[in-house]
Amino acid sequence: MRSAILLILSASFLFFNHRSVKQVDLIVHHGRVYTVNNRFETAQAFAVSDGKIIAVGSNEEILKKYSAKEMIDAKGKPVYPGFIDAHAHFVSYGQSLYQADLFSTNSWDELLNRLQKFAADNPDEAWIRGRGWDQNKWPGKSFPTNEKLNQLFPDKPVLLTRVDGHATIVNEKALELAHVTPGQKLVGGEIETKEGKLTGVLIDNAVDLVSSVLPQVTIADYTKWLMAAQQNCFAVGLTTITDCGLMYTDVEAIDRLQKDGKLSMRLYVMLSDDKENFDRYLTKGPYKTDKLFVNGFKFYADGALGSRGACLLEPYSDRANWYGFLLSDKKHYDSMAQILVNTNFQMCTHAIGDSGNREILNVYNRALKGKNDKRWRIEHAQVINQNDFNLFGNSNIVPSVQPTHATSDMYWAGERLGAERLKGAYAYKQLMQQNGWIPLGTDFPVEDISTFKTFLAAVVRKDAKGFPANGFQIENALTREETIRGMTIWAAKAGFLENEVGSIEPGKKADFIVLDKDLMKVAESDILNTKVVMTFVGGKKVYEK
Ligand SMILES: [Zn+2]
Repeated sequence: MRSAILLILSASFLFFNHRSVKQVDLIVHHGRVYTVNNRFETAQAFAVSDGKIIAVGSNEEILKKYSAKEMIDAKGKPVYPGFIDAHAHFVSYGQSLYQADLFSTNSWDELLNRLQKFAADNPDEAWIRGRGWDQNKWPGKSFPTNEKLNQLFPDKPVLLTRVDGHATIVNEKALELAHVTPGQKLVGGEIETKEGKLTGVLIDNAVDLVSSVLPQVTIADYTKWLMAAQQNCFAVGLTTITDCGLMYTDVEAIDRLQKDGKLSMRLYVMLSDDKENFDRYLTKGPYKTDKLFVNGFKFYADGALGSRGACLLEPYSDRANWYGFLLSDKKHYDSMAQILVNTNFQMCTHAIGDSGNREILNVYNRALKGKNDKRWRIEHAQVINQNDFNLFGNSNIVPSVQPTHATSDMYWAGERLGAERLKGAYAYKQLMQQNGWIPLGTDFPVEDISTFKTFLAAVVRKDAKGFPANGFQIENALTREETIRGMTIWAAKAGFLENEVGSIEPGKKADFIVLDKDLMKVAESDILNTKVVMTFVGGKKVYEK
């Protein structure tokens, strides 16, 4: 009798229970789920429906309430929100995958050898293009000249972009096509001329003279570039990327590839400082779809420290009377700020030198006039005068930084800046304290796309070989939690996307990754050995190791 009652009770319980089980698309369970919510709480499981996270909790809670055809047993592995890169160049990166790889060349001769091989392998290319050279890694550390390039490639134009994208070396054929002449002057750029002859080195705005005569990019080019780029990015756990400085034509191609279902990567886009972009977008306002948000305009205050184009308050420590330069007329920044402050667009400005930063901080403060939520950004915020840090907090200006720049530049930044100025450089902790949050990025292809290198550089401020032993200016290291936030929710916030992506919480898009090691706990020496096991965008698996 007693067991009969129990049977009836449990049967009705099962029946009732079954009725209340909700069918969803995907359940992830038995994970160590870092939600990256406000309190940085962990969970074990979550349920996904229609591309969104609908519930987060313990294994018991989720498995009792939901059932799904697709079940992912994370087997105790860490699950994080998909990484978001707050500053990168997705289109350029894709393009660089189809150019001669000049990263890590140790001399000009080695570069020429690589280039000859590339030219032989790609005989149909109208232009020979390469990216990634850095004379700071070569004997003598001085810029090359193009004599050998002219001998090797007398008939084909050659354009080789420096690692930072702020300088190129081109051959005579390219100079001829672009009608560049010795001694020619322009605002915000340098055409290097020695003894009345062009050396082929073009800095900052001078690069545009040659890039404006490049062949038109086709949709087939974009497809090839972006598909290759997204595959590599998914493999390092990136699910949203900020592309800093695109033309409207690039945006149209991205939109089309996303709508065709080919491109799954989410993108936040800053449009380049260009009249055609302003004409198309200023009155229309920001553009938004499920995977694309065009919400910023990207300006350049100055160039880069490596090519001495960064604008400094005092002369460079390694070049007498040389301050670098601003890339536009000062009035241009002010007038654009006054226009943009009355729109919903974010103003985002590349600023490296302490003078470039001060100039833009003052422009922003004049337009924003104190506390606000417009999230105007300074990209890199690399060298800041100690008197200027508070200018970020005064008007809630967002410093958007790339931790691997610190560990890539630390070998020679002191030569450019001297010990005193170096203290205010790559000062991520001090910058974070201005608003209580900071977005992190990589600036790829200037740096490697690796999210784990970003994590290592932010947390211990050492290179891949563990140099320097105590970390470079370690007082500016971020904690592991701050770094994870900087790579997820704070990177989302920097683009007004924090209600959609950046954490594992109900209502958010189901962008998440499973790792083989836990970044919050892994030994420092093992950070770079961490691998992404799976990457999901909108609840769909886009990568599996
Ligand atoms: Zn950049």
